[in-house]
Parts: sequence; structure tokens; C-alpha cells
Amino acid sequence: AAKPAKAKPAPAPTPTGVVISSPDRIVFPELGLTKGALAAYYETVADVMLPDLGGRAISLVRCPQGRAKQCFFQKHDSGMFADSVHSVEIAESDGKTEPYLYVEDAKGLLACVQMGTIEFHGWGSRVADLERPDRLVIDLDPDEAVNFDVVKLAAVLVRDRLKAAGLDSAPMLTGGKGVHVVAPLTPKADWPAVKAWARAFAESLEADEPDAFVANMSKAKRKGRIFVDWLRNQRGATAVLPFSVRAREGAGVAVPVTWDELKSVTAGNAFSAADPAAVLAHARIARPKVKAKVLPSSP
Ligand code: ATP
Ligand code: MN
Ligand code: MN
Repeated sequence: AAKPAKAKPAPAPTPTGVVISSPDRIVFPELGLTKGALAAYYETVADVMLPDLGGRAISLVRCPQGRAKQCFFQKHDSGMFADSVHSVEIAESDGKTEPYLYVEDAKGLLACVQMGTIEFHGWGSRVADLERPDRLVIDLDPDEAVNFDVVKLAAVLVRDRLKAAGLDSAPMLTGGKGVHVVAPLTPKADWPAVKAWARAFAESLEADEPDAFVANMSKAKRKGRIFVDWLRNQRGATAVLPFSVRAREGAGVAVPVTWDELKSVTAGNAFSAADPAAVLAHARIARPKVKAKVLPSSP
């Protein structure tokens, strides 16, 4: 159909039918990237993002006035979202239940963007099988002094050690400073088992390579080392989801890569939402699917 020859239209519905208000609002000042452009990015990657995002309890980083202004991490349903953003009651450690958010389709994804969401973080399990994680995330957090080449070497070492323990994995650039090494799990082991496994894995890494890795949070020991953040693997913890934009300078995107591709990557934020076509082209390249495995008895 021909476009109406009208002046600038009011907030236009995106292809998913979600109306984005204030599409001209600048969200990333350093790029001039608007809320409308951010919504267009998420429309572009929705199909490749949903297999991981869909059906997972999510936490959102919302920055209603743009990433340079106040942002907040939202775990619970505030009742302010559209119907395409679902709510599920989850029991917390104190026995009380809280409503968590999840989406199942592009409409839900875009409804979150309409609410000022920049980042999408997800639990390590799906709401349909909440107590049994479907992935293990080894979050490599380099100290500022650590070069990205060293992070890449570290990721390969993590891959080899996971493999020796019986788990296949793939790297994901976080869109920030580091890399997550992600091993898909057959949902079978429960949270305490997965957490204990991740902790033992991180501690054995530090024991064998104490100059390169540290397994505990204390900042003092981190100098020049990589913190192996195994705490991503406890119930209620989240990790940034594939194709989420980061609310950081440059609008870096979390992007899964192959081990071969990782060799030529120069930074954790090599991809940006400012170039949705590049992200999508990358995502569409056929890559071997990493096989989910049952959590081995010990790392
Ligand atoms: P980087 O590569 O720069 O480390 P990252 O996504 O791994 O990026 P981390 O600081 O290591 O960032 O945090 C790991 C995860 O902790 C995040 O991906 C996020 O899911 C989770 N997280 C927990 N609480 C918060 C919070 N208050 N704000 C932001 N993230 C949080
Ligand atoms: Mn990290
Ligand atoms: Mn971390």
C-alpha cells in the first residue's frame, strides 16, 4: 500500500504492532541512537533472540531517559507492562513469592523496549522447568589490566576443561568487557547441584592457574587476573541474554560466536546495536548447535 503523504506521523507501530512512544528520544547520546532505532534493532533480531529469551524469567535494565541518565534493574512485575509481557509467581528463599517477568514472542520483547528497556537478562532455567537449569554460564570478568587476548585464551582453557569434564560449550561476547562460556545442560540437575559444580570448577581453575584466575569476589585478589564469576549459576541469578543491547557507551551487543570466530574478535563489545544488519548477518550464519549434556558428577 502507498504511504500517506502526511507530515511526520505520530508514534508508529513497529511490525509487531507495538507502539513505541517518543521514538525520537535519544537513548545513546554518543551515537545519536534513538528509542525508535533501538526498537528497530530488537525487531531485526527478534527471531534469533527468542529461542533463548522466550519462556525465561527475565530481569530488565530500564533507562527511560536514555542510558546516560538513571537506569534501574527490574526483577519483578510492576503491573505496568502490556499483556504480552507475562508474569509468573516464583517462590523466593524466604518462602514468599514474587511476580517475575517473561515473554514468549516479539510482541513481548518490543513491549519491554517500549517501557525503556535496554538490557535483557535471563535466569539459567525456563519458567516451565524452573528448578532445573538448562545452561551453565562461566562468566569471565577480567580486571582492567587484563588484555582481551588473554580473556580469549582463558575462554579456550575453560572450554577445554569443560570438555574434559563432559560438557560442550560456546563463547558469547557480553557486549561489555568479557566473555561468557556457556554450556547447555539437559534440565536434570537442580540449582544446588549446578551451583556447587560451577563453584568447584572455578576453584579448580584458580588452583591450577593461580596467576591467571581468581574464584572469589574479593577485589584485592583480582589485580591482573580474571575473576571466574561462578555465581551466575545460582537460583535467581541472571546473565545477559544473547542479542541483548548493553546500556553502556557504544551500545555493545551480547553476541554468541563460534570458537573459530572468537580468534579474530578484538573486544567484548565488537558488535553494536548501531549496526543491526551486521548483528543479524552474523546471527544467520549457520553454526554447529552445541549439544546439551547432563551435568557430570564432578568438574
Ligand atoms: P562484562 O563482560 O562487562 O562483565 P557482564 O554481563 O558479564 O558483562 P557482569 O558485571 O559480569 O556483566 O555481571 C554479570 C551478570 O550479573 C549480568 O549479566 C547480570 O545479569 C547480573 N546482574 C545481577 N545484578 C545486577 C544488577 N543490579 N545490575 C546489572 N546486572 C546485574
Ligand atoms: Mn562478566
Ligand atoms: Mn560477573
